Amino acid sequence: ATLAYDDQNIFAKILRGEIPCNKVYEDEWALAFHDIAPQAPVHVLVVPKGAYVSWDDFAAKASAEEIAGFVRAIGHIARENGLVEPGYRVLANVGAHGGQEVPHLHVHLFGGRPLGPMIA
Ligand code: 5GP
Repeated sequence: ATLAYDDQNIFAKILRGEIPCNKVYEDEWALAFHDIAPQAPVHVLVVPKGAYVSWDDFAAKASAEEIAGFVRAIGHIARENGLVEPGYRVLANVGAHGGQEVPHLHVHLFGGRPLGPMIA
């Protein structure tokens, strides 16, 4: 069973404009902003506008339109920031074992240096 969505999570507050962020991109489906503790020269978080706890929650419940809009936004941000040719990484942590800290779906976009192998 998926956790109930908590609308007091930090990314919900950012989406509502209650807490500032360093915005990279926004459209109907997604908001993207710089991670507060970047782990690469480019470390952007992309969150859907809808209230989804995790990638799993989104995959299970989002409409095809929301999923398409979110995935397109991620691709757009990568291209607009020059990440595609040198390459980049897309990552979503899910749940406890995934190390997910904030319970609103967010995709990490990392780039700007060789990222090395995946880590466990
Ligand atoms: P997770 O471990 O949930 O996949 O990643 C959460 C990410 O959110 C971390 O990389 C963390 O640095 C970032 N983060 C946590 N709080 C804030 C915040 O208030 N603003 C921004 N921009 N990033 C945050």
